[in-house]
Amino acid sequence: MHSPLKVNTGRILIKAKRALGQNFLIDENIARKIVNSANLSSKDIVIEIGPGQGALTKYIVENTKRLYAIEIDKRVIDILKENFPQKNVIFINEDFLELDIQKIFEKEKRKIKLIGNIPYNITSQILFKAIDNRAYLENCTFMVQKEVAQRIIAKSKTKDYGILSVITQYYGKPEILFKVSPNCFFPKPKVTSAVIKIDFIQTYQHKVEDELFRTLVRTAFGKRRKTLNNSLKYLPFYDEISQRLKNFKKFSLDKRAEELTVDDFIDFAKFISA
Ligand code: SAH
Repeated sequence: MHSPLKVNTGRILIKAKRALGQNFLIDENIARKIVNSANLSSKDIVIEIGPGQGALTKYIVENTKRLYAIEIDKRVIDILKENFPQKNVIFINEDFLELDIQKIFEKEKRKIKLIGNIPYNITSQILFKAIDNRAYLENCTFMVQKEVAQRIIAKSKTKDYGILSVITQYYGKPEILFKVSPNCFFPKPKVTSAVIKIDFIQTYQHKVEDELFRTLVRTAFGKRRKTLNNSLKYLPFYDEISQRLKNFKKFSLDKRAEELTVDDFIDFAKFISA
């Protein structure tokens, strides 16, 4: 048995750029497992974030109506086009954070599945972009740093629970599928990874306004160690609501942000926006 590193290093054609979060997957089994967990069908429209040298692309393209592969690194685009002559894949040399997802949705008239072994330095931005575009997305299957995956799925009263947990769980249903060892990549990252899947279902009815909800969650966790009574003073609209806060009865504002469930945040957001 060879180690996966030895077997596959020959495929690494370009020098990895750390600034672009380039850790290429070199374990075929993991690549296949990630794509399998997205449950693709021949009707699906997929956007892949950062195809790199095509580790996941190879398996996605076999099983989808159309794949839009968005890669910021111009160096790999020509290699990708050469290696994937299939008609159902479109390589776009663009920053995913700038991509117009709505436009692709309107063209395809079908909700999109988002897949990627994503650059870890912009995980939160990618996640928030996905959430903002949830109307056009069916789900996301992402490889992220293990610690980030744990924060995304964390429940209240745990140390991992925070802004990422509340926001992601408010808009979707996240789960960790499996962990991935640093040995499955080249160059080898310092951290362990995990594959997460987020389904964008209507988790909560009676949604409150997005901006208000996020400002509330961010402010509450911004002063994580303070009680809500103190941390909420940093809300930009605190003066407008300060008088009414004493009428809030569902839970005590002596609690800290990490003690509130997603439901608690929703109730509180509804109260202050009423
Ligand atoms: N999917 C490949 C590569 C993963 S590394 C594999 O599994 O082997 C992350 C990839 O994302 C790199 O190819 C990097 O160039 C690309 N990338 C980094 N920032 C990006 C951005 N903002 N938009 C699109 N692609 C990006």
